[in-house]
Amino acid sequence: MSHPKKERTLVVIKPDGVQRTLIGEIIGRFEKIGLKLVGIKMVVLTEDFIEKHYTLNPEWRRITGEKRVKAAREKGEKLPTEDPFEITAVILEKLKKYMTSGPVLAMVWQGAHSVELVRKITGGTEPRSSDVGTIRGDYVIDSYKMADDDGRAVRNLIHASGTVDEAEKEIKHWFKENELINYRLIAEQILYDVNLDGLLE
Ligand code: ATP
Ligand code: MG
Repeated sequence: MSHPKKERTLVVIKPDGVQRTLIGEIIGRFEKIGLKLVGIKMVVLTEDFIEKHYTLNPEWRRITGEKRVKAAREKGEKLPTEDPFEITAVILEKLKKYMTSGPVLAMVWQGAHSVELVRKITGGTEPRSSDVGTIRGDYVIDSYKMADDDGRAVRNLIHASGTVDEAEKEIKHWFKENELINYRLIAEQILYDVNLDGLLE
């Protein structure tokens, strides 16, 4: 088993994040927690690439549909259907428009528990209910209801892999092996070194 410091996750700053000039702010959050950037590129996506990205996880359609049903029940909202697969079929079409509307910034961040920590800093899917202190909670206004009423995807600035398995598949989908760089970051010593030798002169 490889050391936990090798865990990697995919983060994509979505078109709204780029347009809101939040690239520096978002990168800063991940740098500050101690993660290491091992790959980065700006790209314009195709609809086909987006569909593949979201359906890499065969459970994504069900989970995302169920999440919407749960949020609607909590708010007493009435949805046209409660079938998670019908709901996600519509979401996917909206996502294709959203995610191809402008350039996105794709990144791979590495470090212990990177998948879990990046999701924690990112916050829940719906900015209206994501926690204060998270990127989605602090930097954007949007809700399932407003997005539904306006017939568009929820704008929530970034994508972050949901599980280690999802991260591995997504990184392969987005990056070639030679686009990811193995290097030593001096700051890692203070995070992972067992003895902290060599600090005192
Ligand atoms: P991401 O995968 O983008 O990091 P997430 O894992 O929090 O976000 P998912 O359930 O995977 O959320 O949904 C993917 C994206 O689809 C969301 O980030 C959002 O942009 C959009 N989306 C999700 N649910 C809805 C919805 N009910 N209505 C409109 N757009 C939605
Ligand atoms: Mg997701």
